[in-house]
Amino acid sequence: MEIKELKQEYFQAPTKSSRSNCGVVGVYNNPEAAIMTYYGLHALQHRGQEAAGIVTSEYLKEKDKYRFNIHKGHGLVLSVFQNEKLLTEHLKGNAAIGHNRYSTTGSSDKRNNIQPFKVTYKDGNLALAHNGNLTNSNSLRKKLQDDGTIFQTSTDTEIILHLIARSKQQNIVDKLLEVFRQIRGSYSVCILMDDVLIAARDPWGVRPFAMGKLGDSYIFASETTTFDILNADYVRDVQPGELIIIDKEVLRTGKEKSYLIHEPDKYKHCIFEYIYFSRPDSQIFGEKVDKVRRKIGAHLALEHPPPDKDNPDDDDEKKVIVINVPDSSNTATLGYFNECVKRTKNLKHEYGLIRSHYVGRTFIQPGQDIRQMKVKTKFNIVKGVLTGRKVVIVDDSIVRGTTIKLLVDLIKKALPKEIHLRITSPPIISPCYYGMDFPSKEELIANQYHQNVEEIRKALGVDSLEYLSVDALLDSVPYSNPKTDYCTACFTCDYPIPLETIDESDKSKFDD
Ligand code: SF4
Repeated sequence: MEIKELKQEYFQAPTKSSRSNCGVVGVYNNPEAAIMTYYGLHALQHRGQEAAGIVTSEYLKEKDKYRFNIHKGHGLVLSVFQNEKLLTEHLKGNAAIGHNRYSTTGSSDKRNNIQPFKVTYKDGNLALAHNGNLTNSNSLRKKLQDDGTIFQTSTDTEIILHLIARSKQQNIVDKLLEVFRQIRGSYSVCILMDDVLIAARDPWGVRPFAMGKLGDSYIFASETTTFDILNADYVRDVQPGELIIIDKEVLRTGKEKSYLIHEPDKYKHCIFEYIYFSRPDSQIFGEKVDKVRRKIGAHLALEHPPPDKDNPDDDDEKKVIVINVPDSSNTATLGYFNECVKRTKNLKHEYGLIRSHYVGRTFIQPGQDIRQMKVKTKFNIVKGVLTGRKVVIVDDSIVRGTTIKLLVDLIKKALPKEIHLRITSPPIISPCYYGMDFPSKEELIANQYHQNVEEIRKALGVDSLEYLSVDALLDSVPYSNPKTDYCTACFTCDYPIPLETIDESDKSKFDD
């Protein structure tokens, strides 16, 4: 594999004011485990751009023992691992785990909080990478501290590490089952022990987690795009409530060891993964994201079609145009448009917004607005497409409303006839406690205007605003298993996993 071939355009800063959660990768039985993990993280860069890290397990023949090698740092995968020797000389070993971070618990600027976490304990080396959020972390942390545990980080992930290290159970399986049966919340976790790779997923299956194979090598990843970049085969999902162990015996038998943590009555997948978080080229929760996202767009078109021309029979009047907010609403916009054109010929899909993928730091002059500069450096308008037209903007969600308001203002500079906003999700009215960094309830635009869509429309300065309904959203997603169901808490306040650790102050670190 040639690291230098990577292109910068892969690395996209998030366009939304919601921050996505994290990405995890695990590789077992491959001499290029670190390089594979690096590429795997690269394919999951959209899930976290704040920091990245890799831990490898290297067998030292002369000492007949394992050494864990680690490298992690702030920034994108490309910059954290820009020195090629890190992967080829430092991160040696046949097994590795990696992590892309976007902080949902713990301070984002502390190096200690960057995963994977690595410790040495009585049974050897242990490293862990976690995507999700624990909801009983306060009580677990207090119990551990009362028992004398000293924490190195402010994350909930470290709790899992301590619980494993302190377990009195004699074998790995009993240890892990004991630990995962104590924790609540969302977790897709990769654990590396000396010569064992472990994958565990919470019983609700909130975040996606999949298993793949490349020859005799096993791979775990948050999304299946990792397998594509590695030319590996997607085998199956890590099931909700499943603990999978890959060790040398598994290599001999060819069958992964699978254990049940807990079987819930219903799975509660994060429906927002289909709306926005996951890449459209991934397959999650039993279906391709692209397919589901198009269906979501189509359902929005059925509920809230675009306006017609002023005079539908006038061939000289220009068609209404539908534009996407690149890149997050590209696929849903296609679904919306394709459904609309089944009913009208007075509609055209256009690219009215162009996005730069090379946005770094934003510098401002006194008096300038930093958010405005961020949006201006990221997006520009195609005036010729927009001027004098009725424009329908399709976007996937509105969180605080800051970005979409700035985009609307930008589009107005092209002097369109009208602007109509169509959102492929319901109004966001409540924070996420399962691994997504939404702002506090008060900062959400839907709550600022008391969930009054007309008031939000006026605040955004558009001619019409329509959201997808919760029912239509639930009709758009697949139910591939009798237990399949979805978390919709950020739209409905109906939290499926008990919350013990809500701390609104944790939510104030949001930066649009
Ligand atoms: S609250 Fe929203 S973002 Fe969080 S898991 Fe539920 S659906 Fe996903």
